[in-house]
Amino acid sequence: MKYISTRGGIAPISFKQAVMMGLATDGGLLLPKSIPEMSAEAVAQWRQLSYPELASAVLSLFIDDIPADDLRALIVKSYQSFNHPEITPLVKQGDCYIMELFHGPTLAFKDVALQFLGNVFEYLLKESGGKMNILGATSGDTGSAAIYGVRGKERINIFILHPHKRVSPIQELQMTTVTDANVFNLAVRGTFDDGQAIVKTIFNDLSFKEKHQLGAINSINWARIVAQVVYYVYAALKLTASENVPQVDFAVPTGNFGDIFAGYVARRLLPGQIRRLILATNANNLLTRFVLNGDYSLGAVAQTSSPSMDIQVASNFERYLYYLNGEDAERTRQDMDRFAASGSLQFDELAQERVRADFASRSVNEEETNATIRDFYKLHGYVLDPHTAVGVKAGLAGREAGVPMICLATAHPAKFGEAVGRAIGHEPELPESLAHLAEKETSCEVIAAEVGAVKAFVEQHAL
Ligand SMILES: *Cc1c(COP(=O)(O)O)cnc(C)c1O
Repeated sequence: MKYISTRGGIAPISFKQAVMMGLATDGGLLLPKSIPEMSAEAVAQWRQLSYPELASAVLSLFIDDIPADDLRALIVKSYQSFNHPEITPLVKQGDCYIMELFHGPTLAFKDVALQFLGNVFEYLLKESGGKMNILGATSGDTGSAAIYGVRGKERINIFILHPHKRVSPIQELQMTTVTDANVFNLAVRGTFDDGQAIVKTIFNDLSFKEKHQLGAINSINWARIVAQVVYYVYAALKLTASENVPQVDFAVPTGNFGDIFAGYVARRLLPGQIRRLILATNANNLLTRFVLNGDYSLGAVAQTSSPSMDIQVASNFERYLYYLNGEDAERTRQDMDRFAASGSLQFDELAQERVRADFASRSVNEEETNATIRDFYKLHGYVLDPHTAVGVKAGLAGREAGVPMICLATAHPAKFGEAVGRAIGHEPELPESLAHLAEKETSCEVIAAEVGAVKAFVEQHAL
């Protein structure tokens, strides 16, 4: 499988090259040249497979430059760190199925992709004799998944900036209790935006970037998307068989459009089996306006109880736009230029019809989120985290008889204990992996919110 850019500015490259490139060098996003469509016979065979076996089958459609045995070993290693035998189990709760994506080491769905990406990076760097220094900023939630993805790996160091004293105690401990020699937690005296601006500035210093082989671990890497395709396929095949129905729906709490884009790929892989993807947003409803009215225009970012979805510009949206534009890279480039200049894109009725064939959408406000957590707990005794609750609300509202609704649970409720506590009257019980964090040794450097200070630290500790 070769990879191309949504903006058409690069010659086709291999999977390995695509992983190491991350963002396409023409500013676009990388996509496989084609998305295969599975035959009914192939799908029937897939139904017999365990999660790791299915992952091997799905990933090998998109990865043909890593030997099958090596790919399988990378997958097995990636999911050994999960604490559930099914990796992403489905549990029926009332009128929906909850797909629990939070059984990885940091209790968030990002582990599914980042455990795999970390292993792929290590494998490719070993092969090439290279090294990588990963630099990133987090507002609290995603930093730990990135850190756990590469902790203890050879040829990789990771530097993660978080805003000093502005992340929750659990979030801070999840990061700082990782004391592996290749992990550097930097608590920046400033806000998340300060940290993000510093990282951006450093990445724009091309000679520094080159010298230290700086790498990013953000959600635009194709390897992350493809790892997420697997659980959609897994759940769709499982439920269509056990419920004896032709199709299922998914409800997806959405921020950067990475997770739901993986659902879109799965939908194309399995013709007819995934009816619709319900794109759930919180108060940051740009993508909902896009689905409902063809209006893709920037608003201000609002803070909510589902912070990982407090996003306006969804970094993976361009991937879908490319398909919406009939795989026309030139048109996609023009659209993205227009959006960069004006902060707005408007889609005509024809495009809107196509979008609505792929997606339904709903924006869920804070009150509804809170009420959903409360009511779901009352009815089923099951605790939803706020992100998951946004998806459940949108999913239950969009449900149709005879089509099982699978709601993606993207974080364990204990990670957002305060918001959950407000809804159900008490904070959720801490799972084993979080309960003893406070007793562990920590490692973290407090640092000034200055590009120079961070650069100097990286310079000193880079591989
Ligand atoms: C990142 C994240 C999301 C949003 O996923 P995208 O791929 O960015 O759309 C939803 N919920 C949680 C808990 C997350 O960490």
